[in-house]
Amino acid sequence: LPPFDAADPLGIDDLLDPEDLAIRDTVRGWAADRVLPYVADWYEKGELPGIRELARELGGIGALGMSLTGYGCAGASAVQYGLACLELEAADSGIRSLVSVQGSLAMYAIHRFGSEEQKREWLPRMAAGEVIGCFGLTEPDHGSDPASMRTHAKRDGGDWVLNGRKMWITNGSVAGVAVVWAQTEEGIRGFVVPTDTPGFSAPEIKHKWSLRASVTSELVLDDVRLPASAVLPEVIGLRGPLGCLSHARYGIVWGAMGAARSSFESAVEYAKTREQFGRPIGGFQLTQAKLADMAVELHKGILLAHHLGRRMDAGRLRPEQVSFGKLNNVREAIEICRTARTILGANGISLEYPVMRHATNLESVLTYEGTVEMHQLVLGKALTGLDAFR
Ligand code: FAD
Repeated sequence: LPPFDAADPLGIDDLLDPEDLAIRDTVRGWAADRVLPYVADWYEKGELPGIRELARELGGIGALGMSLTGYGCAGASAVQYGLACLELEAADSGIRSLVSVQGSLAMYAIHRFGSEEQKREWLPRMAAGEVIGCFGLTEPDHGSDPASMRTHAKRDGGDWVLNGRKMWITNGSVAGVAVVWAQTEEGIRGFVVPTDTPGFSAPEIKHKWSLRASVTSELVLDDVRLPASAVLPEVIGLRGPLGCLSHARYGIVWGAMGAARSSFESAVEYAKTREQFGRPIGGFQLTQAKLADMAVELHKGILLAHHLGRRMDAGRLRPEQVSFGKLNNVREAIEICRTARTILGANGISLEYPVMRHATNLESVLTYEGTVEMHQLVLGKALTGLDAFR
């Protein structure tokens, strides 16, 4: 029998091929070099300095729009994209959010629903990290219920004119292009908005106590005039943004386990070295029970992510299954981080260790891309056939 591997107790790595492992190592190495030494400082200051340089580097390692094909994208498998999300979020959820929004929301929307002209204009530069994208769906008064959004686009001659406000938009203030969803006479439609268009502004949201190493913004659209070619031609209705969100949520199923893994590793290390009552606290049964339960949920979560990844690669992943994964993995990840925090005692609240940073980051991850309750309702509907949303 192979020896027990504390880092991979279930032997999940056996499911990976050499290319998967190489991609994982590349992303892990990049994050260790370019994020981990600095992220506590960025977090404390509530900023992500050098975000443009980081985006270009992420483009350089093929992490932007990673599972898309053509237009400069890496054409990786869903499992490989998931592994990258896990490694990035093991560094910080803010970095994974940058990549998710760029690849799974903004680029994915253009790739799936855009015209050939839109794809050629934006995707290669976005894949290279030269242009950062954002995705504007949420509004100040409409979060879980985006169908009620008020932002609207009206035809004016051959143009479209957009008015409205979006809220909590990741990458907003640094984006060169925004995919904005708006009501039209035909239903909800997506627009590709260059952020230097007159009438567009994106003030940054301050005072966040979560995802502090991430740019979050309001989008203000004040008579933003766009040519007819700015609309995403291939989709009308909420199924457009919801399709993008399902793709991004899939990455979160993996990513959340990265934050959990980092916190778990901190807790194990601390438990082996911190002594109280004359012995390492990891020798106490109560601490071991915590570590065992954390390991069980961590590796169950990674296994679930793999399972969903394989289904996505086979073209068989249903949105309800993504909800299943997001609901479970983010909820368990936050529990793992909170338990790790208790094992570290007072040190657990310090930014010298990653656990509190991960735990507070995951508060956002729990809410964005569909709250826990929304995913419970999605599953509840699928299980009963009864719609409890309204
Ligand atoms: P609400 O919808 O007001 O919900 C409040 C509470 O009520 C929640 O607990 C919810 O589950 C519950 N609730 C609502 N309806 C029901 C119901 N029918 N039954 C039971 N409970 C219900 N959005 C974007 O478009 N693009 C982004 O890039 C983006 N980035 C984000 C980054 C951060 C850091 C954060 C925090 C958010 C981001 N969001 C983004 C917004 C996010 O998607 C929304 O916050 C989320 O959809 C929830 O909406 P809300 O905050 O308005 O909460």
